[in-house]
Amino acid sequence: MSRDPVCGMRIDESKAAAKSEYKGKTFYFCCTKCKDSFAKEPSKYAAKVDIDSLKDQLH
Ligand SMILES: [Zn+2]
Repeated sequence: MSRDPVCGMRIDESKAAAKSEYKGKTFYFCCTKCKDSFAKEPSKYAAKVDIDSLKDQLH
């Protein structure tokens, strides 16, 4: 499972509506709208998803 970096939704890679690569990492999105938001400010959202995955490990 991955996480949509824009809205925070958990995404099944095989069912992702859109995906994008940034700095060698692949990001998955629930819809193309989220992908568009990511494309505008990738560094902002890429940093956010790192924090979210850290939180997941703590649970
Ligand atoms: Zn989304």
